[in-house]
Amino acid sequence: MTEVLFRDDSYLVEAKANVVFADQRGIALDRTVFYPQGGGQPGDQGVLLLADGRSIAVVNTVYDTDRKTILHVPAEGTDLPAVGAGVVARIDWDRRFRRMRAHTALHLLSVVLPYPVTGGSVGDAEGRLDFDSGDAVLDKAEVERRLNELIAIDAPLSQRWITDAELEANPSLVKTMSVKPPSGTGRVRLIAIEGLDLQPCGGTHVARTGEIGRASVTQIEKKGKINRRVRIALASP
Ligand SMILES: [Zn+2]
Repeated sequence: MTEVLFRDDSYLVEAKANVVFADQRGIALDRTVFYPQGGGQPGDQGVLLLADGRSIAVVNTVYDTDRKTILHVPAEGTDLPAVGAGVVARIDWDRRFRRMRAHTALHLLSVVLPYPVTGGSVGDAEGRLDFDSGDAVLDKAEVERRLNELIAIDAPLSQRWITDAELEANPSLVKTMSVKPPSGTGRVRLIAIEGLDLQPCGGTHVARTGEIGRASVTQIEKKGKINRRVRIALASP
């Protein structure tokens, strides 16, 4: 089981760690700042710096089959580090921060469009959500205007944990029908955007909505009778 440092502090760029095992599937560390692919967000990329000066490029990060161990996937043909070796694990911060901004913007998009979410994905400074919006008419310019209004509030984000039982007693907290919040550990993390939004989420977020920057709604696409796919893109800061 890997200690997940990004969950309490998504702004950590690097951390010291030790190799627990390394095989063809990936390199497991005792602790990591690397976010593993999941919840519609891609896995982090970056490097593992070894004491001998060697650096191992990490091309992706995934969960092992136990869903508790995080695997840092090296480029093909990489010499694997020895078990117990000390490393500095460092993520590609520019890329991660673009994803944190996009991911947080999608929380706000679900406030602008308060419909059940049936899917979504986070990219580098862009992302999409699919809504079960029924007969509602979604106006691109209006959605964009309201989304930027919420960003401009510069509301702070915070997190707290509740038990699985508390979440079951409050099913309205879950907006996403296709992506179940991470559970099974007995507790669930709630992400609050002060005054705007509260939902369970395992992803990485910015500290204040103002960090998202200017957002554009690039497309609203019909996906079946009642589904609409809304794509957004963020301007470079
Ligand atoms: Zn989130």
